[in-house]
Amino acid sequence: MARVVMLRDQEPRCQIEEIDANDLPERSVSVDIDYSDLNYKDALAVTGKGKIVRDYPFVPGIDFAGTVRESRSDHYAAGDKVILTGWGVGERHWGGFAETMNVDADWLVPCPDDLSTRDAMLLGTAGLTAMLSVIQLEQAGLAAGGKVLVTGATGGVGSWAVQMLAQLGYDVEAVTGKAEQHHWLEELGASQIVPRSELDGDTRPLEKGRWDAAVDTVGGQMLAGVLARMNYQGRVAAVGLAGGTDLPTTVMPFILRGVSLLGVESVMAPFEQRQAAWQRLASLPRDLFTRMQTEEIGFDQVVEQAEAMLAGKTYGRVLINPQQR
Ligand code: NDP
Repeated sequence: MARVVMLRDQEPRCQIEEIDANDLPERSVSVDIDYSDLNYKDALAVTGKGKIVRDYPFVPGIDFAGTVRESRSDHYAAGDKVILTGWGVGERHWGGFAETMNVDADWLVPCPDDLSTRDAMLLGTAGLTAMLSVIQLEQAGLAAGGKVLVTGATGGVGSWAVQMLAQLGYDVEAVTGKAEQHHWLEELGASQIVPRSELDGDTRPLEKGRWDAAVDTVGGQMLAGVLARMNYQGRVAAVGLAGGTDLPTTVMPFILRGVSLLGVESVMAPFEQRQAAWQRLASLPRDLFTRMQTEEIGFDQVVEQAEAMLAGKTYGRVLINPQQR
């Protein structure tokens, strides 16, 4: 079987290798992988630009969906369709950029009957995180029809968040740095496009309120700009840090406008939360999947696509098909 493997000589490097399935880690469930996908964290891993991989050799890939080949767990049997996201897979444990992988049963969720393994990876951690963000905002009291902002809107998490929120009837505004993608974001359901430059520059701690809620995938100056412009008792689901980890704001949005900052963490989400989110994802209308911009690649294009992703040049979702040569 083939896999993508990270090796370290002077610097980390990535290559495709054939290995014997007997050399995989000893775990309770063996899965034949139909699809994996490329996320921001994977891009950091395979380019060696982030401190994601610590032990070498290492197989990256934080998500995969496939079919159980063999199982020593009571919860799964050969032939079951399964999804894996999070749990440190692709970070501490070998991940999904392989034809087959052995994993712990606890890390898996059953793939809902009405979702294909391809569509599951079209969603992947990005779709799951977008759904967890929507659920957090709803639990924090976001009212029907509210005005919601999504930052990093052409990215994996952002583009799913735009679609899901629009589908649920919210008035969605999308922030992007890509002028050429305005039309696509409108097709996904954004009622208005906000240029990235309007929000990621210097800001006062409080500006005129514009939105009831936000999903922020960018962090840094962008998140400060978003917090400054929330309406009274607005809620912000903080998801990502594509634009940096600093948060140059003050306590003013929280005290004077009652804004809530809600952290979203998909990696550690417990089984029940994941399963509920996947059931809700499986009920999304099919046309959302066909509308998603999708690049399907083989192992040989992973590094090239990762470089493009870190340079902010990709949009939509990148699927990895282990059978594509
Ligand atoms: P993508 O690379 O697909 O999307 C990120 C988007 O952010 C880009 O498309 C771009 O959108 C925007 N962007 C990129 N660089 C910058 C920059 N320097 N300044 C401002 N905007 C920028 O990544 P994902 O959607 O997969 O992930 C987004 C973030 O969320 C990452 O930090 C990732 O690690 C994190 N994440 C967190 C999860 C969690 O559980 N908390 C789960 C999954 C991801 P545009 O051009 O439209 O502005």
